[in-house]
Amino acid sequence: MVTRADIGVIGGSGFYSLLDDAEEIELSTPYGSPSDVVTVGRIGARSVAFIPRHGRNHRFPPHRIPYRANLWALRSLGVRQVLAPSAVGSLRAEYGPGTLVVPDQFVDRTSGRVQTYYDTDGAAHVSFADPYCPSGRAVAVRSARAGAWETVDGGTLVVIEGPRFSTRAESQWFASNGWSIVGMTGHPEAILARELALCYTSLSLVTDHDAGVETGQGVTHDEVLKFFAQNVARMRTLVTETIQALPEERTCPCPTALDGIDHPFELP
Ligand SMILES: [Zn+2]
Repeated sequence: MVTRADIGVIGGSGFYSLLDDAEEIELSTPYGSPSDVVTVGRIGARSVAFIPRHGRNHRFPPHRIPYRANLWALRSLGVRQVLAPSAVGSLRAEYGPGTLVVPDQFVDRTSGRVQTYYDTDGAAHVSFADPYCPSGRAVAVRSARAGAWETVDGGTLVVIEGPRFSTRAESQWFASNGWSIVGMTGHPEAILARELALCYTSLSLVTDHDAGVETGQGVTHDEVLKFFAQNVARMRTLVTETIQALPEERTCPCPTALDGIDHPFELP
C-alpha cells in the first residue's frame, strides 16, 4: 500500500474539507468495512486519514458503528495517533453549550457492543486505567486555549448505549457520581485504539445540558445537530491546530501498551 497517514480523525462529515490533496481509499478489514471510504490527505506537513464515524448520510447509529473496522483501517494506513471529535451532553451546570471537554476518564454504560479484538483463544488483558493519550490530551488542551476556547482539561465521559438520550434519573445519577459529560461513541473507540497501541484523544463539544441538569423538555436530536453544525468551523480549526502540534515521535505510554501481552494477531 502506497498511501500512508500518520494521524487519524474519526468525526463528523464536516471534516472532509480539511484535507489537501485528498484521496479516497476503499478499505476492507478482517472486521468488515469501515463506516465509509477513508479520505487521506495533508494538513500542513502532516498526513491525515479521516473516517466519518457515522458514514455518509449518517447511516450508522452509535450502537451500529463498525468500530473495530474503523480503528483497524486507520492502523493499517500507518496511523498511530487518533483524534476523536464528538458531540456530548453536559452533566454540570457550569459546562454550558460550546464548552470543550478533553476527558481523561470514561465510564462504560453501553451494552452489547463488541469491545475487543481479543475474542479468540487465550487471554490478553490491556491496561486501561488511563484510557486517553496524555500527550494528545495536553496538545489538544493547549491548542484549544490558544484559540480562546473555553476548555475543560480532564473529566469523566459517560458513554451510554443510545440511540435514545438519558432519562432524568439516569442523568442525575451520572452527575451525582461526579461525572462530567455524556456521549454515545467514546466506547469502544478508546479501548480498540489501545488494543492496537494507538494514541487516542477525545475532543468533546458540549451541545446541550443532559436531561438531569435543567428542567424543561430535555435534549432533542434537532437541538444537538443544530448546535454542532454551528460549531463545526471551530472544531475544524481545533483539529487542524492540534494535528500540526502533535509530536512526530511518540514518547507517551501508548506505543508500549501491548508490551508483554500475548496478543493473538499481527498488528496491521
Ligand atoms: Zn499516546
